[in-house]
Amino acid sequence: MEEGGLEGFFEVFLRKDSVFFDKRVLQSSYIPETILHREEQTKQIANILAPALRGDKPSNIFVYGKTGTGKTLTTNHTTQKLMEIAERENIPLKVLYINCKLKRSTDTEYRLIAQLARELGKSIPPTGLPTEEVYKAFFRALNKQKQNHIIILDEIDQLINKTGDNALYNLTRLNENSNSQVSLIGISNNIMFVDNLDPRVRSSLSEEEIIFPPYNALQIQAILRQRAELTFNKGVLEQGVVEKCAAYAARDHGDARRALELLRVAGEIADRKDTKKITTDFVDEAEHKIDRDRIIDIVTTQPKQYQLVLYSIITLQPTRNNNIFTGEIYEVYKSLCNKTNTSILTQRRVSDIISEFDMIGIVNAKVISKGRYGRTRDISLEVPETTLHRIKNILEDSIRV
Ligand code: ADP
Ligand code: MG
Repeated sequence: MEEGGLEGFFEVFLRKDSVFFDKRVLQSSYIPETILHREEQTKQIANILAPALRGDKPSNIFVYGKTGTGKTLTTNHTTQKLMEIAERENIPLKVLYINCKLKRSTDTEYRLIAQLARELGKSIPPTGLPTEEVYKAFFRALNKQKQNHIIILDEIDQLINKTGDNALYNLTRLNENSNSQVSLIGISNNIMFVDNLDPRVRSSLSEEEIIFPPYNALQIQAILRQRAELTFNKGVLEQGVVEKCAAYAARDHGDARRALELLRVAGEIADRKDTKKITTDFVDEAEHKIDRDRIIDIVTTQPKQYQLVLYSIITLQPTRNNNIFTGEIYEVYKSLCNKTNTSILTQRRVSDIISEFDMIGIVNAKVISKGRYGRTRDISLEVPETTLHRIKNILEDSIRV
Protein backbone atom coordinates (compact mmCIF):
# COMPACT_ATOMS: atom_id res chain seq x y z
CA MET A 1 0.00 0.00 0.00
CA GLU A 2 1.34 3.40 -1.01
CA GLU A 3 2.16 5.91 1.77
CA GLY A 4 -0.57 8.52 1.18
CA GLY A 5 -3.01 5.67 0.75
CA LEU A 6 -2.25 4.24 4.14
CA GLU A 7 -2.83 7.62 5.68
CA GLY A 8 -6.25 7.87 4.05
CA PHE A 9 -7.13 4.44 5.31
CA PHE A 10 -6.20 5.19 8.94
CA GLU A 11 -7.94 8.53 8.79
CA VAL A 12 -11.20 6.98 7.73
CA PHE A 13 -10.82 4.12 10.17
CA LEU A 14 -10.45 6.61 13.00
CA ARG A 15 -13.65 8.40 12.12
CA LYS A 16 -16.09 5.67 11.44
CA ASP A 17 -18.78 8.25 10.68
CA SER A 18 -16.86 9.67 7.79
CA VAL A 19 -18.69 10.21 4.52
CA PHE A 20 -15.83 8.24 3.01
CA PHE A 21 -15.90 4.51 2.76
CA ASP A 22 -12.47 4.29 1.13
CA LYS A 23 -10.71 7.58 0.58
CA ARG A 24 -7.86 6.08 -1.42
CA VAL A 25 -10.14 5.92 -4.44
CA LEU A 26 -9.94 9.71 -4.78
CA GLN A 27 -6.19 9.96 -4.41
CA SER A 28 -4.07 10.65 -7.45
CA SER A 29 -2.23 7.34 -7.17
CA TYR A 30 -5.45 5.34 -7.54
CA ILE A 31 -5.86 3.52 -10.82
CA PRO A 32 -9.47 3.01 -11.86
CA GLU A 33 -10.65 -0.38 -13.04
CA THR A 34 -11.96 0.94 -16.34
CA ILE A 35 -11.09 4.06 -18.27
CA LEU A 36 -14.10 5.91 -19.61
CA HIS A 37 -14.33 7.88 -22.86
CA ARG A 38 -10.80 7.18 -24.02
CA GLU A 39 -11.45 4.18 -26.29
CA GLU A 40 -10.24 6.11 -29.34
CA GLN A 41 -6.88 7.10 -27.82
CA THR A 42 -6.34 3.69 -26.24
CA LYS A 43 -6.88 2.04 -29.61
CA GLN A 44 -4.49 4.43 -31.34
CA ILE A 45 -1.71 3.81 -28.84
CA ALA A 46 -2.31 0.06 -28.91
CA ASN A 47 -2.18 -0.01 -32.71
CA ILE A 48 1.12 1.81 -32.79
CA LEU A 49 2.76 -0.28 -30.06
CA ALA A 50 1.49 -3.71 -31.08
CA PRO A 51 4.33 -4.40 -33.59
CA ALA A 52 6.66 -4.59 -30.57
CA LEU A 53 5.09 -7.99 -29.87
CA ARG A 54 6.48 -9.25 -33.17
CA GLY A 55 9.92 -7.78 -32.53
CA ASP A 56 9.42 -4.74 -34.77
CA LYS A 57 10.15 -1.22 -33.60
CA PRO A 58 7.00 0.83 -32.95
CA SER A 59 6.94 4.45 -34.14
CA ASN A 60 7.65 7.18 -31.62
CA ILE A 61 4.56 8.86 -30.25
CA PHE A 62 3.88 12.38 -29.10
CA VAL A 63 0.86 12.55 -26.81
CA TYR A 64 -0.64 15.88 -25.91
CA GLY A 65 -3.65 17.48 -24.26
CA LYS A 66 -4.41 19.74 -21.30
CA THR A 67 -3.87 18.58 -17.72
CA GLY A 68 -6.34 16.07 -16.36
CA THR A 69 -7.40 14.71 -19.75
CA GLY A 70 -6.25 11.19 -18.90
CA LYS A 71 -2.93 11.09 -20.78
CA THR A 72 -0.86 9.45 -18.05
CA LEU A 73 -3.61 7.04 -17.07
CA THR A 74 -4.39 5.91 -20.61
CA THR A 75 -0.78 5.55 -21.71
CA ASN A 76 0.25 3.56 -18.65
CA HIS A 77 -2.85 1.39 -18.83
CA THR A 78 -2.14 0.51 -22.46
CA THR A 79 1.53 -0.30 -21.95
CA GLN A 80 0.67 -2.37 -18.88
CA LYS A 81 -1.71 -4.52 -20.90
CA LEU A 82 0.94 -4.82 -23.61
CA MET A 83 3.49 -5.97 -21.04
CA GLU A 84 1.09 -8.56 -19.62
CA ILE A 85 0.87 -10.22 -23.04
CA ALA A 86 4.61 -9.89 -23.64
CA GLU A 87 5.39 -11.56 -20.33
CA ARG A 88 2.89 -14.33 -20.86
CA GLU A 89 4.30 -15.05 -24.31
CA ASN A 90 7.95 -14.61 -23.32
CA ILE A 91 8.47 -11.75 -25.74
CA PRO A 92 11.50 -9.60 -24.88
CA LEU A 93 10.02 -6.17 -24.25
CA LYS A 94 10.60 -3.56 -21.59
CA VAL A 95 8.71 -0.40 -20.71
CA LEU A 96 10.50 2.40 -18.86
CA TYR A 97 8.41 5.20 -17.38
CA ILE A 98 9.85 8.50 -16.19
CA ASN A 99 7.88 11.48 -14.96
CA CYS A 100 10.03 14.49 -15.81
CA LYS A 101 8.07 16.80 -13.53
CA LEU A 102 9.29 15.04 -10.42
CA LYS A 103 12.38 16.96 -9.49
CA ARG A 104 15.89 15.59 -9.13
CA SER A 105 15.83 12.53 -11.34
CA THR A 106 15.48 14.59 -14.51
CA ASP A 107 16.97 17.98 -13.84
CA THR A 108 20.20 17.28 -15.71
CA GLU A 109 21.00 15.16 -18.75
CA TYR A 110 23.26 13.07 -16.49
CA ARG A 111 20.45 12.31 -14.07
CA LEU A 112 17.96 11.39 -16.77
CA ILE A 113 20.26 8.92 -18.52
CA ALA A 114 21.45 7.55 -15.16
CA GLN A 115 17.82 7.02 -14.18
CA LEU A 116 17.12 5.16 -17.43
CA ALA A 117 20.23 3.02 -16.95
CA ARG A 118 19.10 2.22 -13.43
CA GLU A 119 15.71 1.10 -14.70
CA LEU A 120 17.67 -1.38 -16.79
CA GLY A 121 19.48 -2.64 -13.73
CA LYS A 122 22.76 -0.70 -13.89
CA SER A 123 23.85 1.08 -10.78
CA ILE A 124 25.12 4.56 -11.56
CA PRO A 125 26.41 6.99 -8.91
CA PRO A 126 24.19 10.10 -8.56
CA THR A 127 27.04 12.38 -9.67
CA GLY A 128 30.71 12.26 -10.58
CA LEU A 129 31.01 10.39 -13.88
CA PRO A 130 31.46 12.20 -17.17
CA THR A 131 28.04 12.30 -18.88
CA GLU A 132 29.54 10.35 -21.75
CA GLU A 133 30.30 7.46 -19.40
CA VAL A 134 26.71 7.40 -18.20
CA TYR A 135 25.56 7.18 -21.80
CA LYS A 136 27.96 4.31 -22.41
CA ALA A 137 26.67 2.41 -19.40
CA PHE A 138 23.12 3.01 -20.58
CA PHE A 139 23.92 1.75 -24.11
CA ARG A 140 25.58 -1.34 -22.68
CA ALA A 141 22.50 -2.08 -20.62
CA LEU A 142 20.29 -1.57 -23.68
CA ASN A 143 22.36 -3.89 -25.82
CA LYS A 144 22.77 -6.62 -23.29
CA GLN A 145 20.07 -8.58 -24.97
CA LYS A 146 18.12 -8.10 -28.15
CA GLN A 147 15.02 -6.46 -26.83
CA ASN A 148 12.46 -3.80 -27.66
CA HIS A 149 12.27 -0.86 -25.27
CA ILE A 150 9.49 1.65 -24.90
CA ILE A 151 10.58 4.74 -23.00
CA ILE A 152 7.77 6.93 -21.71
CA LEU A 153 8.81 10.48 -20.87
CA ASP A 154 5.82 12.01 -19.09
CA GLU A 155 5.64 15.81 -18.79
CA ILE A 156 8.41 15.90 -21.35
CA ASP A 157 8.16 19.69 -21.75
CA GLN A 158 9.56 20.01 -18.22
CA LEU A 159 12.58 17.99 -19.27
CA ILE A 160 13.28 20.35 -22.16
CA ASN A 161 12.81 23.35 -19.87
CA LYS A 162 15.40 22.01 -17.46
CA THR A 163 18.00 20.42 -19.72
CA GLY A 164 17.36 21.46 -23.33
CA ASP A 165 16.82 18.88 -26.07
CA ASN A 166 20.24 17.24 -26.08
CA ALA A 167 19.18 14.09 -24.25
CA LEU A 168 16.12 13.78 -26.44
CA TYR A 169 18.26 14.15 -29.53
CA ASN A 170 20.50 11.32 -28.38
CA LEU A 171 17.55 9.12 -27.44
CA THR A 172 15.92 9.54 -30.84
CA ARG A 173 19.11 8.45 -32.61
CA LEU A 174 19.76 5.41 -30.47
CA ASN A 175 18.66 2.89 -33.04
CA GLU A 176 21.39 3.87 -35.47
CA ASN A 177 24.10 2.11 -33.53
CA SER A 178 22.55 -0.56 -31.39
CA ASN A 179 20.94 -3.92 -31.84
CA SER A 180 18.28 -3.09 -29.32
CA GLN A 181 15.33 -0.99 -30.41
CA VAL A 182 13.98 2.00 -28.57
CA SER A 183 10.64 3.72 -29.09
CA LEU A 184 9.79 6.94 -27.32
CA ILE A 185 6.47 8.15 -26.01
CA GLY A 186 6.60 11.82 -25.07
CA ILE A 187 3.64 13.18 -23.10
CA SER A 188 3.01 16.90 -22.72
CA ASN A 189 0.37 19.33 -21.45
CA ASN A 190 1.89 21.95 -23.62
CA ILE A 191 1.50 21.78 -27.38
CA MET A 192 3.70 24.78 -28.07
CA PHE A 193 6.73 23.05 -26.63
CA VAL A 194 7.49 21.08 -29.82
CA ASP A 195 8.04 24.37 -31.65
CA ASN A 196 11.17 24.94 -29.57
CA LEU A 197 12.71 21.59 -30.39
CA ASP A 198 15.50 20.93 -32.84
CA PRO A 199 13.59 20.14 -36.09
CA ARG A 200 15.19 16.68 -36.28
CA VAL A 201 14.10 15.86 -32.76
CA ARG A 202 10.63 17.22 -33.43
CA SER A 203 9.99 15.16 -36.54
CA SER A 204 11.42 12.07 -34.92
CA LEU A 205 9.40 12.40 -31.72
CA SER A 206 6.13 13.09 -33.51
CA GLU A 207 6.16 10.23 -35.97
CA GLU A 208 2.71 9.68 -34.53
CA GLU A 209 0.66 12.26 -32.66
CA ILE A 210 -2.23 11.53 -30.37
CA ILE A 211 -4.46 14.26 -29.04
CA PHE A 212 -6.41 14.08 -25.80
CA PRO A 213 -9.28 16.57 -26.04
CA PRO A 214 -10.78 18.06 -22.85
CA TYR A 215 -13.66 16.08 -21.34
CA ASN A 216 -17.10 17.64 -21.47
CA ALA A 217 -19.30 17.96 -18.38
CA LEU A 218 -21.18 14.70 -19.05
CA GLN A 219 -18.00 12.70 -19.46
CA ILE A 220 -16.62 14.10 -16.22
CA GLN A 221 -19.87 13.21 -14.48
CA ALA A 222 -19.41 9.61 -15.59
CA ILE A 223 -15.83 9.55 -14.31
CA LEU A 224 -16.95 11.02 -10.97
CA ARG A 225 -19.86 8.59 -10.57
CA GLN A 226 -17.58 5.64 -11.15
CA ARG A 227 -15.33 6.81 -8.29
CA ALA A 228 -18.08 8.09 -6.01
CA GLU A 229 -19.59 4.61 -5.99
CA LEU A 230 -16.40 3.20 -4.47
CA THR A 231 -15.23 6.04 -2.28
CA PHE A 232 -18.33 7.20 -0.38
CA ASN A 233 -20.70 5.52 2.01
CA LYS A 234 -24.21 4.95 0.68
CA GLY A 235 -26.48 7.96 0.53
CA VAL A 236 -24.05 10.71 1.55
CA LEU A 237 -24.06 12.47 -1.81
CA GLU A 238 -26.88 14.96 -2.19
CA GLN A 239 -28.57 15.61 -5.50
CA GLY A 240 -26.49 17.79 -7.81
CA VAL A 241 -23.08 17.38 -6.19
CA VAL A 242 -21.54 15.35 -9.00
CA GLU A 243 -23.09 17.67 -11.57
CA LYS A 244 -21.66 20.73 -9.87
CA CYS A 245 -18.14 19.30 -9.59
CA ALA A 246 -18.31 18.35 -13.26
CA ALA A 247 -19.61 21.77 -14.28
CA TYR A 248 -16.79 23.58 -12.46
CA ALA A 249 -14.14 21.29 -13.94
CA ALA A 250 -15.59 21.50 -17.45
CA ARG A 251 -15.66 25.28 -17.20
CA ASP A 252 -11.91 25.30 -16.55
CA HIS A 253 -10.88 22.99 -19.37
CA GLY A 254 -12.42 19.57 -18.87
CA ASP A 255 -9.92 18.58 -16.21
CA ALA A 256 -10.81 15.25 -14.54
CA ARG A 257 -8.13 15.72 -11.87
CA ARG A 258 -9.69 18.99 -10.80
CA ALA A 259 -13.14 17.39 -10.68
CA LEU A 260 -11.92 14.53 -8.49
CA GLU A 261 -10.15 16.98 -6.21
CA LEU A 262 -13.35 19.02 -5.81
CA LEU A 263 -15.26 15.89 -4.85
CA ARG A 264 -12.60 14.87 -2.34
CA VAL A 265 -12.36 18.31 -0.72
CA ALA A 266 -16.17 18.61 -0.56
CA GLY A 267 -16.18 15.28 1.29
CA GLU A 268 -13.50 16.48 3.68
CA ILE A 269 -15.52 19.60 4.42
CA ALA A 270 -18.55 17.44 5.22
CA ASP A 271 -16.42 15.37 7.58
CA ARG A 272 -15.03 18.42 9.29
CA LYS A 273 -18.55 19.71 9.87
CA ASP A 274 -19.60 16.23 10.89
CA THR A 275 -22.74 16.41 8.75
CA LYS A 276 -22.63 13.00 7.03
CA LYS A 277 -24.02 14.64 3.90
CA ILE A 278 -22.18 16.27 1.02
CA THR A 279 -24.16 19.21 -0.30
CA THR A 280 -23.66 21.43 -3.35
CA ASP A 281 -22.72 24.26 -0.97
CA PHE A 282 -19.71 22.20 0.10
CA VAL A 283 -18.67 21.99 -3.55
CA ASP A 284 -18.63 25.80 -3.66
CA GLU A 285 -16.60 25.86 -0.48
CA ALA A 286 -14.23 23.29 -1.94
CA GLU A 287 -13.80 25.40 -5.07
CA HIS A 288 -12.83 28.40 -2.92
CA LYS A 289 -10.48 26.38 -0.77
CA ILE A 290 -8.65 24.92 -3.75
CA ASP A 291 -8.30 28.37 -5.30
CA ARG A 292 -7.04 29.78 -2.03
CA ASP A 293 -4.48 27.02 -1.58
CA ARG A 294 -3.33 27.56 -5.14
CA ILE A 295 -2.76 31.29 -4.55
CA ILE A 296 -0.90 30.62 -1.32
CA ASP A 297 1.22 28.05 -3.11
CA ILE A 298 2.10 30.49 -5.89
CA VAL A 299 2.92 33.30 -3.49
CA THR A 300 5.11 31.08 -1.32
CA THR A 301 7.23 29.88 -4.22
CA GLN A 302 7.84 33.25 -5.92
CA PRO A 303 11.42 34.58 -6.01
CA LYS A 304 12.18 37.36 -3.54
CA GLN A 305 11.99 40.23 -6.04
CA TYR A 306 8.52 39.06 -7.07
CA GLN A 307 7.45 38.88 -3.46
CA LEU A 308 8.65 42.44 -2.90
CA VAL A 309 6.60 43.69 -5.84
CA LEU A 310 3.53 41.81 -4.65
CA TYR A 311 3.96 43.10 -1.13
CA SER A 312 4.16 46.65 -2.46
CA ILE A 313 0.83 46.20 -4.22
CA ILE A 314 -0.73 44.76 -1.08
CA THR A 315 0.49 47.70 1.01
CA LEU A 316 -1.01 50.22 -1.40
CA GLN A 317 -4.31 48.43 -1.93
CA PRO A 318 -6.32 49.49 1.16
CA THR A 319 -5.61 53.19 0.73
CA ARG A 320 -6.25 53.29 -2.98
CA ASN A 321 -9.58 51.74 -3.69
CA ASN A 322 -8.13 49.56 -6.42
CA ASN A 323 -6.55 52.19 -8.66
CA ILE A 324 -2.82 51.76 -8.35
CA PHE A 325 -0.31 52.84 -10.96
CA THR A 326 3.00 51.21 -11.76
CA GLY A 327 4.92 54.35 -10.72
CA GLU A 328 3.44 54.27 -7.22
CA ILE A 329 4.16 50.57 -6.84
CA TYR A 330 7.70 51.25 -7.92
CA GLU A 331 8.17 53.91 -5.21
CA VAL A 332 6.99 51.55 -2.46
CA TYR A 333 9.05 48.73 -3.96
CA LYS A 334 12.23 50.85 -3.90
CA SER A 335 11.82 51.77 -0.26
CA LEU A 336 11.19 48.11 0.59
CA CYS A 337 14.40 47.17 -1.22
CA ASN A 338 16.30 49.71 0.81
CA LYS A 339 14.75 48.49 4.03
CA THR A 340 15.56 44.84 3.26
CA ASN A 341 18.94 45.39 1.67
CA THR A 342 17.88 44.08 -1.71
CA SER A 343 19.17 45.24 -5.09
CA ILE A 344 16.69 47.45 -6.95
CA LEU A 345 15.36 46.39 -10.36
CA THR A 346 14.42 48.91 -13.05
CA GLN A 347 10.84 50.15 -13.31
CA ARG A 348 10.62 48.41 -16.68
CA ARG A 349 11.46 45.07 -15.04
CA VAL A 350 9.02 45.64 -12.19
CA SER A 351 6.37 46.41 -14.78
CA ASP A 352 7.12 43.04 -16.43
CA ILE A 353 6.76 41.28 -13.09
CA ILE A 354 3.35 42.89 -12.66
CA SER A 355 2.41 41.57 -16.11
CA GLU A 356 3.40 38.07 -15.03
CA PHE A 357 1.19 38.38 -11.95
CA ASP A 358 -1.59 39.50 -14.26
CA MET A 359 -1.08 36.41 -16.38
CA ILE A 360 -1.30 33.96 -13.49
CA GLY A 361 -4.33 35.88 -12.24
CA ILE A 362 -3.28 37.28 -8.88
CA VAL A 363 -3.41 40.88 -10.03
CA ASN A 364 -5.51 42.57 -12.64
CA ALA A 365 -3.69 45.16 -14.75
CA LYS A 366 -6.04 47.13 -17.00
CA VAL A 367 -4.46 49.33 -19.63
CA ILE A 368 -6.19 52.70 -19.70
CA SER A 369 -5.70 55.37 -22.27
CA LYS A 370 -5.01 58.88 -21.01
CA GLY A 371 -5.64 60.50 -24.34
CA ARG A 372 -2.65 62.40 -25.56
CA TYR A 373 -0.82 61.78 -22.30
CA GLY A 374 -0.27 58.19 -23.38
CA ARG A 375 -1.31 55.02 -21.62
CA THR A 376 -0.99 53.75 -18.11
CA ARG A 377 -2.07 50.69 -16.18
CA ASP A 378 -4.70 50.53 -13.53
CA ILE A 379 -3.64 47.76 -11.17
CA SER A 380 -5.63 45.89 -8.56
CA LEU A 381 -5.26 42.71 -6.55
CA GLU A 382 -7.28 39.67 -7.55
CA VAL A 383 -6.89 37.92 -4.22
CA PRO A 384 -10.03 37.22 -2.18
CA GLU A 385 -10.34 39.31 0.96
CA THR A 386 -10.26 36.19 3.16
CA THR A 387 -6.87 35.12 1.82
CA LEU A 388 -5.20 38.51 1.86
CA HIS A 389 -4.24 38.40 5.51
CA ARG A 390 -2.61 34.98 5.16
CA ILE A 391 -0.64 36.08 2.14
CA LYS A 392 0.51 39.24 3.85
CA ASN A 393 1.89 37.20 6.73
CA ILE A 394 3.64 34.77 4.41
CA LEU A 395 5.29 37.62 2.53
CA GLU A 396 6.33 39.43 5.70
CA ASP A 397 7.98 36.26 6.95
CA SER A 398 9.73 35.65 3.70
CA ILE A 399 11.07 39.13 2.93
CA ARG A 400 11.59 40.06 6.58
CA VAL A 401 9.93 43.44 6.77
P1 ADP B 1 -3.12 13.89 -17.39
O1 ADP B 1 -1.95 12.97 -17.39
O2 ADP B 1 -3.71 14.12 -18.75
O3 ADP B 1 -2.86 15.20 -16.69
P2 ADP B 1 -4.27 11.87 -15.70
O4 ADP B 1 -4.17 10.69 -16.58
O5 ADP B 1 -3.26 11.99 -14.62
O6 ADP B 1 -4.31 13.20 -16.56
O7 ADP B 1 -5.74 11.92 -15.06
C1 ADP B 1 -6.05 12.81 -14.00
C2 ADP B 1 -6.95 12.13 -12.99
O8 ADP B 1 -8.22 11.85 -13.56
C3 ADP B 1 -6.41 10.79 -12.51
O9 ADP B 1 -6.76 10.63 -11.15
C4 ADP B 1 -7.14 9.79 -13.37
O10 ADP B 1 -7.27 8.56 -12.69
C5 ADP B 1 -8.47 10.46 -13.61
N1 ADP B 1 -8.98 10.17 -14.95
C6 ADP B 1 -8.65 10.81 -16.07
N2 ADP B 1 -9.29 10.33 -17.13
C7 ADP B 1 -10.07 9.32 -16.66
C8 ADP B 1 -10.97 8.41 -17.30
N3 ADP B 1 -11.21 8.50 -18.60
N4 ADP B 1 -11.62 7.52 -16.54
C9 ADP B 1 -11.37 7.45 -15.21
N5 ADP B 1 -10.54 8.28 -14.55
C10 ADP B 1 -9.88 9.21 -15.27
MG1 MG C 1 -0.07 13.32 -16.56
